[in-house]
Amino acid sequence: MFDYLIIGAGFAGSVMAERIATQLNKKVLIIEKRKHIGGNCYDFRDENNILIHQYGPHLFHTSNKKVWDYLSQFTEWEIYHHRVKAFVDGRKVTLPFNLNTLYEVFPNTIAVKLEKKLLDNFEYNTKVPILELKKSIDQDLQFLAQYIYEKIFRNYTSKQWGKSPEEIDEAVTARVPVFIGRDDRYFNDIYQALPKEGYTKIFERMLDHPNIKLLLNTDYKEVANLVDEKFYLFGNEFKGKVIFTGMIDELFSYRFGQLKYRSLDLKFETLDVESFQEVATVNYPNNYDFTRITEFKKMHPIKSNKTVILKEYPQDFVIGKNIPYYPIFTNEEKSKYERYKEYAADLTNIILLGRLAEYRYYDMDDIIERALVTFERLSREDNE
Ligand code: UDP
Repeated sequence: MFDYLIIGAGFAGSVMAERIATQLNKKVLIIEKRKHIGGNCYDFRDENNILIHQYGPHLFHTSNKKVWDYLSQFTEWEIYHHRVKAFVDGRKVTLPFNLNTLYEVFPNTIAVKLEKKLLDNFEYNTKVPILELKKSIDQDLQFLAQYIYEKIFRNYTSKQWGKSPEEIDEAVTARVPVFIGRDDRYFNDIYQALPKEGYTKIFERMLDHPNIKLLLNTDYKEVANLVDEKFYLFGNEFKGKVIFTGMIDELFSYRFGQLKYRSLDLKFETLDVESFQEVATVNYPNNYDFTRITEFKKMHPIKSNKTVILKEYPQDFVIGKNIPYYPIFTNEEKSKYERYKEYAADLTNIILLGRLAEYRYYDMDDIIERALVTFERLSREDNE
């Protein structure tokens, strides 16, 4: 009955379903554990008409025109440039740490000197990861690197990952580099915007096709299983291709051990004030147990005498208790993942796609790009 079985209705699964249904005219069944589509991008309007991101703030940004054009088929956009402040020593300063931040945190003479040193050593408008800057031999740059490391990275990373910046993959802290420029935005990508009617609408439009059947509220393990490298659906061997976007370790029954993920306890509060903070997100590296506060009205402005904020409390992922948001990038976990990947390589009918299935810290645009490329490969195979 179905040519493709897709597990998970987040971006990875939904883009694949949309492409397969519309471009290959093949039948797809998507199985989704939650009661809604959209994965962690799911959003909704609350009783005050404030658009809430149920699984934490999702800011769309990309420099990939192909991804932008693809997604633009399903939504209009609200121009939005994410700005973030970090609460440091009782003041809110610009993040990523850039040349403007120098003047916010240091007396003018010191800031001038440090700016000159930075510009003598790095190109203007470039990004320097904090762990790179820490390797500087110049004493002033060493001082600056140590300051930024202590005030912005060390404690935030310890809260977020339960580890020091050195214990996780360098690419993680490099996501928020020191910026040798004056661009105050959190991202520098060419395209930055939020979907006008929210992310959920994008998924609704993607999946609204007669070739796509959607089974919500269903853990795939209730209706499907993998035995001796064969996939069974409702008790019968499934001969089509399976696109799996869940946790790779779960799919293979944890045979090489559990992969570690970080989770979040998300605490939402509705407040009787029009505005809570000046920008959408304020990070608290050194204070409190939460990492950051996001105020949703700052992303989708709306007139209301109430506002909703979200505090994120990182915690370990525990099966059955919370959600695996982030793969934890230590060498140990990466080599465990490699064993799963090798094992999966022999199963040619199963395609693993997305943050959980590929154990990668993908952004939304990365996942869409991966899905589009994977689809192109599939459709070539389909034509052969
Ligand atoms: N980070 C930090 N301090 C900050 C912001 C980020 O130490 O104020 C580090 C931290 O390790 C974090 C990583 O940079 O996990 C990536 O941050 P990003 O804002 O990209 O995280 P996300 O929004 O994906 O949770």
